[in-house]
Amino acid sequence: MSDYFKPIPEIQPWTEDYWKATKRHKLLIQHCESCGVNIFYPRKYCPECWSGDLGWIEANGKAKIYSFSVMMDMVEPKFMADLPYVLAMVNLEEGVRMTTRIVECRPEDVAIGMEVEVVFEDISPECALPMFRPVNPALSPARPSNDEQTAEVSKQTVVMGPETYQTIRYEVGGNNGSVCRITLNRPGKLNSINRVMAEELIDAFKRVKQESSVGVVVLTGAGEKAFCTGGDLDIFPSLVEHESALDWLAHSGLDVQRAITGCEKVVIGEINGHCLAGGLELALCCDLLYAKESAQIGFTEINMGILPGWGGTARIVRSMPVFRARELLYSGSKNYTAREVYEMGLLTRVFKDDEFEEQCNRMVQKIASKKPNALRIAKEIMDKSTDGSDIETALAVERNGIQWLSSAPDVQETLAQFRTAGK
Ligand SMILES: [Zn+2]
Repeated sequence: MSDYFKPIPEIQPWTEDYWKATKRHKLLIQHCESCGVNIFYPRKYCPECWSGDLGWIEANGKAKIYSFSVMMDMVEPKFMADLPYVLAMVNLEEGVRMTTRIVECRPEDVAIGMEVEVVFEDISPECALPMFRPVNPALSPARPSNDEQTAEVSKQTVVMGPETYQTIRYEVGGNNGSVCRITLNRPGKLNSINRVMAEELIDAFKRVKQESSVGVVVLTGAGEKAFCTGGDLDIFPSLVEHESALDWLAHSGLDVQRAITGCEKVVIGEINGHCLAGGLELALCCDLLYAKESAQIGFTEINMGILPGWGGTARIVRSMPVFRARELLYSGSKNYTAREVYEMGLLTRVFKDDEFEEQCNRMVQKIASKKPNALRIAKEIMDKSTDGSDIETALAVERNGIQWLSSAPDVQETLAQFRTAGK
């Protein structure tokens, strides 16, 4: 408690009883004795009838989330250590709305309408802060519970990790752990994607997002033959499972895309062989694409009467000139060469086969030597600008980002050196 360094509420005469109660882990709400309304936050006069005849009732601490926002970045520096955290407005059963934080659960589990209950964090000798946690203990992995289902859920969530991945490899290395290589590792199946691989990719990209030393993620395929040839057709074993397979393709696919595009690191796709169908779709989620000269690239879905459904149809026209994108998709051709696709405007660079590894490593090291925060903010600004947002929104993100980056002490120092050198 003594090491609490974030801002502490200023206690006013009319909020004193409120804060005293928080110290006893009780949540009080003001009640107007004249008109009967409940009031939050505490005030001197009733906002409804202007009476000064205000008393207190104790809230039962139950509430539902009215709205929330997950704070990911660019907050007041004293709150940086808490990121990501959930800021929310909750409706108390007593009919008042409070701004608060949602704690003891993962931000991704928070939802509008979720039932929550008050908990208190003791922050000073004078007061504690009321916050809210999910009523459902299954959403609070840290909370002890005898509920078997809870045990099952937390067991499942801890089981998956780099040591247990069956279909991918996850390796953090490079200078100061600045590079993470995620390798699709089913070379015998041309690194095609099955259900396990989809789950593992989602887990891996969420995991690498938390690795603060990592600035660059390399996504590549094991072996010489393929980057990835798309969905493993073995996932359609029978007509009975057909429907569930389609459902999986649609939904799990979206989760895989989101895990990659939402990972905040610079994701470099190294295309070292066939990059077809869903494999090309994975590639389109990357930020930079380096290809081996011998790589062959294409969307083959249309040959089966379907279309790229893991974001590919929508994303390809944003990734290269549209008249060339259309040919790629309509033709169903699986043997576009890397050079052709580069000339069509999709790839970042193409390297000769015998230089591929060396040239890729050179670029990866070069980019990974930059500050992870600068790379991350650059990605965010550029994504904002290319995803169809209006330019004003993108410019606002840029201004905020640069302000935030330049407040770092080491950057200040570098800028000061530049200023001195210029004189
Ligand atoms: Zn009143």
